This record gives sequence, C-alpha cells and structure tokens, in this order.
Amino acid sequence: MDTASCPRCHQPINPQAINCPHCGYTLKAYGHPGIPLHRATGDDYLCSSCTYEKDDSCNFPQRPLAKECILYQNEAESQLELQQQQLNNSFASKLKNWVNRNQSFLLIVTLLFVCLLIVLLRR
Ligand code: SF4
Ligand SMILES: [Zn+2]
Repeated sequence: MDTASCPRCHQPINPQAINCPHCGYTLKAYGHPGIPLHRATGDDYLCSSCTYEKDDSCNFPQRPLAKECILYQNEAESQLELQQQQLNNSFASKLKNWVNRNQSFLLIVTLLFVCLLIVLLRR
C-alpha cells in the first residue's frame, strides 16, 4: 500500500485518508477521498505558483490570495510533466519512424534469427 505523510505532524498516513488519524488535520475537501485539499505553507499564497493564475483561467473568488484550494496545480511540476511527455512522445515517434523506414531490414534480421534458432535446435 502507498504511504504518504501528514503535512502537519509528518506521521505516515494512508494517501486516501480524509483526516490525519494522528492529529486530525483535514487532508481532503468535502470529506471526499478523491478531492485533495492543497494548502499554502508559510506566508506564500498558492496562486503565485499555480498554473491557472499564470494562464489567467482561474475565476475562484479567493484568487490571488488562496491559502487553500482544491484545484491548485503547481506550475513548475506541470511544466516538468509536459516536457517529460513531449520527450516520451518524440522518442516513440522516432522509434515508429525508424521501424517504418527499416521494415525490410527488420524482416531479414528476424528471418536470419529464426534460421539460426532452427539450426541451433537441430544440433
Ligand atoms: S486554482 Fe486556486 S490556487 Fe490556482 S489560481 Fe485559482 S484560486 Fe489560486
Ligand atoms: Zn497529522
């Protein structure tokens, strides 16, 4: 089972937990395990690092001074995920192109491999 830690008491908790069983800290919004409640730490506001603040698509009334938010998305983390996705996509498409361009070569190599296997098994 996955584990997480409570942001307040730092005790291990179940990631689905609605409240921390050790200190009672609220971890999910509306008592629903599928709605994480993000909280700002220290004096910062969540909005200053949120994707929806940067692209000006948020219309929550607490913007730009949200200390708690259910929709917060860290801009740096989303950028990193996007870059990783682009990298994976470009590798997959390069591999697909290479396979398409070298189909006959791959066929010959596969045939040679099968022949070799037959010869080795007959010994
Ligand atoms: S989604 Fe939440 S954290 Fe993000 S800008 Fe809107 S209010 Fe702020
Ligand atoms: Zn706790």
